[in-house]
Amino acid sequence: MQRALLVIDMTYDFIADDGALPCGEAGQKIVNPILQAVQTAHQNGDFVIFACDAHAIDDKEFQLWPVHCVAGTKGAQLIEPLNQFYATYESDQVRYLPKTKYDAFFETPLAMWLQEKGVQEVLVCGVCTSICCYATALGAYYRGYQVVIDPALMADLTPEAHEFAVLQMENVLKAQRLSN
Ligand SMILES: [Zn+2]
Repeated sequence: MQRALLVIDMTYDFIADDGALPCGEAGQKIVNPILQAVQTAHQNGDFVIFACDAHAIDDKEFQLWPVHCVAGTKGAQLIEPLNQFYATYESDQVRYLPKTKYDAFFETPLAMWLQEKGVQEVLVCGVCTSICCYATALGAYYRGYQVVIDPALMADLTPEAHEFAVLQMENVLKAQRLSN
């Protein structure tokens, strides 16, 4: 298993209209494309990881952002139909990874999991492009992984932030870009 698909923060709070911190239409537009990418990755035998914010109610991050993705609440759940996919295919190959910082590698077993599977390449997708996707791509780059991005599978609070982060990943992290 050489490739991992890292799906970042596709939770109710970040995607649903009545979520706590939604990316709006841009976020909703990538749900089905990500489901397709996840299905393809699953069929190909790639490692699929849903890395999601799962905060304590008094997390210091809430000094910066509205309260969101509190562990155990609906807001922290994967958005449908990704939640259904996860419920159906949860296994050694399809995992959920709770995280508390932007970077999915920070104080999580992610690096260990990738090492165990012999992963060399990570495809990062989800939200927000310039925050958690970027921070996780940076974490992957620091650890020597080839980062792959598909801008059509990421979304941000603004198109400007999305564009900037895509270019940063391409130019600074040498991410391989799969679409425009
Ligand atoms: Zn958060």
